[in-house]
Amino acid sequence: MSIKDNLLEIQSELPKGVTLVAVSKTKPNEAILEAYEAGQRVFGENKVQEMVAKWEVLPKDIEWHMIGHLQRNKVKYMAEFVSLIHGVDSLKLLSEIDKQAQKQDRVISCLLQMHIAEEDTKFGLNQSELNELINSEAFKAMKNIKIVGLMGMATFTTDETQIHKEFAQLKSIFDSLKSEIPEISILSMGMSGDYNIAITEGSTMVRIGSSIFGARNYS
Ligand SMILES: *Cc1c(COP(=O)(O)O)cnc(C)c1O
Repeated sequence: MSIKDNLLEIQSELPKGVTLVAVSKTKPNEAILEAYEAGQRVFGENKVQEMVAKWEVLPKDIEWHMIGHLQRNKVKYMAEFVSLIHGVDSLKLLSEIDKQAQKQDRVISCLLQMHIAEEDTKFGLNQSELNELINSEAFKAMKNIKIVGLMGMATFTTDETQIHKEFAQLKSIFDSLKSEIPEISILSMGMSGDYNIAITEGSTMVRIGSSIFGARNYS
């Protein structure tokens, strides 16, 4: 199937209110343009340099999402255009985003990344780190970032019960955070292998790469 067919099939399955981020990391501009011509406008990348290079040449109405683990010294390269940063998991990173956004006279939307997987290789905050961050004076003083929701990745496993449990846990953290920050609206969870489970558990944003663009080649 073509990129267009894959995209239209996934789009037709997604309930209203669930946004599709087409994860185009490692994929060439031609592949992105094929998805763009099929109507897709939101794309996700996990490397800043790669995202900048694509942003420079591709249509300007694309919304670029940074979905990967982000180093502080890279924030400045994308502060001018990035539309959502999914993987924020420290106050230090958030304060760098705030600083770079201020230089661009922008407010950058961010998701806080929560650690929900069993594996300890995945990045993210735990519940007490989340509380500490949002209650800190430094956070409250930031004017150029806006927390719009949470993001998380489930354990890479075939055990669906486990995946359900981890996404349900993230949804419950999201619901309790919403009582403190009522403006939050985005719960970014679900990838090619587990987005149907994520949607059942309340995802509002899925990040799908290989099911649209095919398997990635890392060389
Ligand atoms: C690569 C990536 C995805 C997409 O993965 P697929 O399995 O190809 O759908 C989603 N989220 C993050 C954070 C990623 O790095």
